[in-house]
Amino acid sequence: MTGGHDGIHASLRDAEPSVFWLDTSASPEPRDPISACTETDLLIVGGGFTGLWAALQAKERDPDRDVVLVEADTIAAHATGRNGGFCDASITHGLHNAVAHFPKEAKRLVELGRENFAAIETAIDRYSIDAAFDHSGGLSVAYEPWQLRELESGIALEREHGETVELLDRDAMQSLVHSPTYIGGVRTAEGVATLDPARLAWGLADVAESLGVRIFERTRIDSLEPMANAVVAETRRNRIRARKVVLGTNALSHLVGATRRRVVPVWDYVLVTEPLTEAQLASIGWRGREGIGDAANQFHYYRLTPDNRILWGGYDAIYFRGGDISDARFQRMETFDLLARHFFATFPQLDGLQFTHRWGGVIDTSSRFCVTFGTAHDRRVSYAVGYTGLGVAATRFGARVALDLVDDPTSDLLRLEFVRSRPFPFPPEPLRNVVIQMTRRAIANADNNEGRRGPWLRLLDAFGVGFDS
Ligand SMILES: Cc1cc2nc3c(=O)[nH]c(=O)nc-3n(C[C@H](O)[C@H](O)[C@H](O)COP(=O)(O)OP(=O)(O)OC[C@H]3O[C@@H](n4cnc5c(N)ncnc54)[C@H](O)[C@@H]3O)c2cc1C
Repeated sequence: MTGGHDGIHASLRDAEPSVFWLDTSASPEPRDPISACTETDLLIVGGGFTGLWAALQAKERDPDRDVVLVEADTIAAHATGRNGGFCDASITHGLHNAVAHFPKEAKRLVELGRENFAAIETAIDRYSIDAAFDHSGGLSVAYEPWQLRELESGIALEREHGETVELLDRDAMQSLVHSPTYIGGVRTAEGVATLDPARLAWGLADVAESLGVRIFERTRIDSLEPMANAVVAETRRNRIRARKVVLGTNALSHLVGATRRRVVPVWDYVLVTEPLTEAQLASIGWRGREGIGDAANQFHYYRLTPDNRILWGGYDAIYFRGGDISDARFQRMETFDLLARHFFATFPQLDGLQFTHRWGGVIDTSSRFCVTFGTAHDRRVSYAVGYTGLGVAATRFGARVALDLVDDPTSDLLRLEFVRSRPFPFPPEPLRNVVIQMTRRAIANADNNEGRRGPWLRLLDAFGVGFDS
């Protein structure tokens, strides 16, 4: 039985330390690094979703402006190519988070999220991007009575905000997806899709390039210096003089001081199985191919890939002291073992299934779990960071606001409290590590104690801050 210690190890034995989405013959050759100094109207730093959506929207707004996008590594090499591919309409890490932090604006933020989600679907169609976009809907599953109670109590709020949600009892839940652990759930019909994130990113890069964006990969910006009417971005050998700059750098570098205080790099880990046979698929149902997340604080997210593998990730969200983002953290066997154990507890009927891929990636966590914005150098530089694990769709909106910040001071979006206000900063190290580890332990304790939040989490709640993935 794979559930045993040896079986878990066996299931991971042949798993490659590589990212499923990036491990494909469709991977494009990286573009050349920058090889000479240049000038541009708009410099975009980061070739993840934030940077790519910024490049595309900048050209859609003004086809004549010159745009340069630089990426330190390769397009989609980080969170953008490593995620679960859940495309959720929420731009605020969920409705409940919007209501907790921006109660007066929650309705508007939900609308903006829906608009943004529709615009993503339209762009994929319009530019014929082969991103395996599947508007499948989502399932939140409960495996403990307290989780079901929480799901149930959230339904009214969701309906009030126009969400198409349906509460499922044990039988209804089991009829959709068969796991002995499920005792109920909630199905969300609209505004949740699954997609192939790397193909989306590569497609966006090609489209941006076809519209005239100059893209340089393997080109890191080391610093930004303000100059008269411009900002100069320094690479190791060259300089880019830009009238405006948009940063979509996640928590991977901090070219302006504010991002260092507002986001911390948190590692999230993922497994992918070999493709399921027809019989294995039939044993779990899942005909609707919904994206699934469980309702614990430390949650798993899982989905079918287009070739019928299961992608299974989450649960552990690890902050390493000092904000370590080195490649050495890309693999964490302790977490892979735990994820595999949970996988076979959820789907014991898949005993013997092998994992083929295992990887980790960095999430930019902010203390209120959603994107935060700001400007520097006399409003010539803007940034959008802090999506905290729900950025596949929100990055398009983040990019839109980051562009407005340098382009269009009259934009309505800039008046939103969501955009104007800033999350509580994280304290500097070594206190940062102490506080985050304490919070992680408190979250695990809450999950083991029927969701009851202890004094530390209640204190953080009172200040509207926390830690999540
Ligand atoms: C394992 C994992 C699973 C996730 N699952 C989901 C999910 O299912 N659904 C969801 O909505 N969200 C998910 N997320 C979050 C989502 O992937 C991110 O929010 C989103 O991709 C962020 O995009 P980004 O462009 O802001 O950051 P990134 O994709 O990290 O891109 C930032 C880029 O900037 C580049 N860069 C940084 N500094 C510099 C510099 N100085 N010079 C040049 N380039 C620089 C980096 O090399 C990097 O490529 C997940 C994240 C992870 C890690």
